[in-house]
Amino acid sequence: MIDEKLLSILVCPKCKGKLEYREDEAFICPSCGLKYEIRDGIPNFLIDEAEPIDASSDGRD
Ligand SMILES: [Zn+2]
Repeated sequence: MIDEKLLSILVCPKCKGKLEYREDEAFICPSCGLKYEIRDGIPNFLIDEAEPIDASSDGRD
């Protein structure tokens, strides 16, 4: 599990803003609207691989 101490030191690689942990194994940056997936317990903070939140969490098209 991700604890709060770890969360407190993690920042968005793009805007350096605070990240939110989602239970679906991802970090969310509300400021950028990006989702950083966690694979095998390791957050993937490559900006190029981050997904827009709207495209992945919302079914409307
Ligand atoms: Zn950000």
